[in-house]
Amino acid sequence: MDKKRSEIRRHADRSVAEKAVEILAAGRVAHLAFIEDQQPFAIPFGYHFDPRHPDRLFVHGSRASRALHIAASGAPVCVTVTLVDGLVYSKSAMYHSMNYRSVVCFGRGREVTDRETQRQIYEDMVRRYFPGRTAGRDYAPPPDPHLEATLLVEVLIEEASAKAREGGPAGPLDDDDTAPGTRGVVAL
Ligand SMILES: Cc1cc2nc3c(=O)[nH]c(=O)nc-3n(C[C@H](O)[C@H](O)[C@H](O)COP(=O)(O)OP(=O)(O)OC[C@H]3O[C@@H](n4cnc5c(N)ncnc54)[C@H](O)[C@@H]3O)c2cc1C
Repeated sequence: MDKKRSEIRRHADRSVAEKAVEILAAGRVAHLAFIEDQQPFAIPFGYHFDPRHPDRLFVHGSRASRALHIAASGAPVCVTVTLVDGLVYSKSAMYHSMNYRSVVCFGRGREVTDRETQRQIYEDMVRRYFPGRTAGRDYAPPPDPHLEATLLVEVLIEEASAKAREGGPAGPLDDDDTAPGTRGVVAL
């Protein structure tokens, strides 16, 4: 590879590397991409990310999950998180677009086996999705059989890029009040 894999080449002006942590902390779905027998896969997961430890994120699920087993093996993976902030419509077909914030992470996974660490991460993960929700008060913490049935994978992020688009449409007719058609942004 001539260029660093995380270097943004298209619309480099949209690079927001300084916002990568904020985006990962706000995201809800991570797509975990990996290769098995030369076939690429990208599988959606809930995930955990803690801004205090920005070099890692966590995915978990059934021990039967093929995706998680491959991630836990240390094979290279790519994880993407996307927030869609708006739908952008333009007076020109080609300039319809989206406002978004997204992160692409490259790294490798490993299984988290320590029970106390697992409990802590699951508790933090629930609280990330449901602020204030507390183990022991709002729900029962996981007993050992549940922990045993679940594979928790820590993805160590080797490098990442963050990109964002904001604002209205940028087509040649969009600032021309005399041009036919409509323009705007549907905020999501
Ligand atoms: C928003 C969201 C959050 C999720 N969070 C979790 C999570 O935290 N933990 C967890 O274990 N699972 C989660 N899932 C389910 C996850 O996407 C996988 O279906 C599951 O982990 C099994 O993975 P696998 O590789 O073993 O699937 P396999 O059954 O081995 O995959 C075989 C094939 O099935 C198809 N497939 C698998 N998953 C999906 C899918 N989600 N949508 C469409 N086709 C699919 C693909 O073609 C894939 O190649 C989530 C799904 C969504 C949409």
